[in-house]
Amino acid sequence: MGIKRFQNHPIIKEFNGLKKFFRQHETDISRRRIMDFKKFVDLIGSSGDNIAFDLMGSVNFGQAMENSDTDVVMYLHCDKGRIGDCDHENCSRLELYQNLLINSIAYEHLNKSYAIQVVDCINLTQLEYDIKIRNFDSLALVKFGFYRSICRGINRKLLHSFEERLQSDEELCNFIEKSLADCFLGLIHSSQHSYSFKKYIERVEDGGFRVPENMASKINSYLSY
Ligand SMILES: [Zn+2]
Repeated sequence: MGIKRFQNHPIIKEFNGLKKFFRQHETDISRRRIMDFKKFVDLIGSSGDNIAFDLMGSVNFGQAMENSDTDVVMYLHCDKGRIGDCDHENCSRLELYQNLLINSIAYEHLNKSYAIQVVDCINLTQLEYDIKIRNFDSLALVKFGFYRSICRGINRKLLHSFEERLQSDEELCNFIEKSLADCFLGLIHSSQHSYSFKKYIERVEDGGFRVPENMASKINSYLSY
């Protein structure tokens, strides 16, 4: 899934190639964390609401260890009909669901819990609106296109309905595609990102696998974009 045409973007293609390699050596902890998020989606679903996530960082690469943080993007419908960014000042649901998530995972794992960072929250009502009015300047749509191209979705069924709607608007997609590279440069130039790659290579090699020479050089060229 994800948005097919964005996945042909050269940088995204390269990123996903690396991701695929690391995921072949996925840790059990990564799998367990994915299960945690699926369970949470079901919990919210049983209350009659919708929530979805994109997992970033080590779980996205299948390289989560016990002490790894889990970085997530959260998708929800903001306070009653509100159109605008979800942020802590204007949105009560972001706070509510974030606390619920952190508490339910702490409860599930007790003394073996892990830290969760909600790095972004996308308001689904805003996505709907921006697609409908064809907002060519929508940052929410750019971020959605970006996360959906590189991350690991939880409750993908919900996200897919938005992908479909966006994909059916060729012209809007063209606009968004132009901004994807900027999102990437922001990600690549944070030192934390390159540091993560070093960690992932170490983990795979600690498990007795050699990262192939061509993969190592791919990683280096990727980081020097
Ligand atoms: Zn909100």
